[in-house]
Amino acid sequence: MFDSLSDRLGGVFDRLKGRGALSEADVRAAMREVRIALLEADVALPVARDFVENVTEQAVGQQVLKSVTPGQQVVKIVNDALVAMLGAEAVELNLAGTPPNVIMMVGLQGSGKTTTTAKIAKRLTEKDRKKVMMASLDVNRPAAQEQLAVLGTQTEVATLPIVQGQTPVDIAKRALQAAKLQGFDVVLLDTAGRLHVDQQLMNEMKAVADVSEPEEILLVVDALTGQDAVNVAQNFTEQVPLSGVVLTRMDGDARGGAALSMRAVTGKPIKFVGTGEKLDGLEQFHPERVAGRILG
Ligand code: GDP
Repeated sequence: MFDSLSDRLGGVFDRLKGRGALSEADVRAAMREVRIALLEADVALPVARDFVENVTEQAVGQQVLKSVTPGQQVVKIVNDALVAMLGAEAVELNLAGTPPNVIMMVGLQGSGKTTTTAKIAKRLTEKDRKKVMMASLDVNRPAAQEQLAVLGTQTEVATLPIVQGQTPVDIAKRALQAAKLQGFDVVLLDTAGRLHVDQQLMNEMKAVADVSEPEEILLVVDALTGQDAVNVAQNFTEQVPLSGVVLTRMDGDARGGAALSMRAVTGKPIKFVGTGEKLDGLEQFHPERVAGRILG
């Protein structure tokens, strides 16, 4: 992850730092290379453009160019802009409402939504000592509800008993009622995915959100899908009030564009990243650490 981007940027900045004095033209030439490196890493075009414009504006200032170590100053500006682009600070789940707090998981089929639901449930149970219930609202895909039940057994997290023939809204209502009666702190609703974003899916999301009033609506996207992930995020952002994003398959060799674009495209923080198929493969997203990894 980020390897080739990191190499490319490293090359540009080594050259900048190697020179004593810098002219505005040097900075602009370096920033053109940064822009190309970002685009090759699959960063969304408007995001790469804004990033480079913002950094250039700061870096061509007299204070930077006339300083003793202009190259290093430019790299510092890039680092700070990268951290800002990734969301500045790690953002925790918001579970401050009256229990049961609802976390609604949304995303396309195959994005890793069900696995991520179980990972978050496990983390909340083990690390935060919450009493957690999971419920699958996926009535389209045969065996989706059973898949979540199996993950519940593996993680020792309660799952809502399966009742055939119910609609997603019925299941959401039943999950909330059961959680209230049994004193659960958190209910994770794993909604149905689709192969593509379609209106029926969006209507279903909205109907479920209306009855369950979630504290969190987390969009799960596959980091390996690059520009597609960005398009999916854009679509969901326009239709559902997301509160955050989870990027899966960050253990793979994605070029990183999805991770870098997500905050700007959705306006919402990346809260977690998936780092493996195993159920402990979930990490909180730390913008500074990721920027540090990219800039080496
Ligand atoms: P859903 O259709 O969105 O619910 O997707 P699933 O949760 O069923 O996941 C699809 C596949 O992706 C499964 O084989 C998961 O084990 C795998 N998967 C999910 N998250 C990750 C991740 O962070 N890293 C890796 N390597 N695989 C993942």
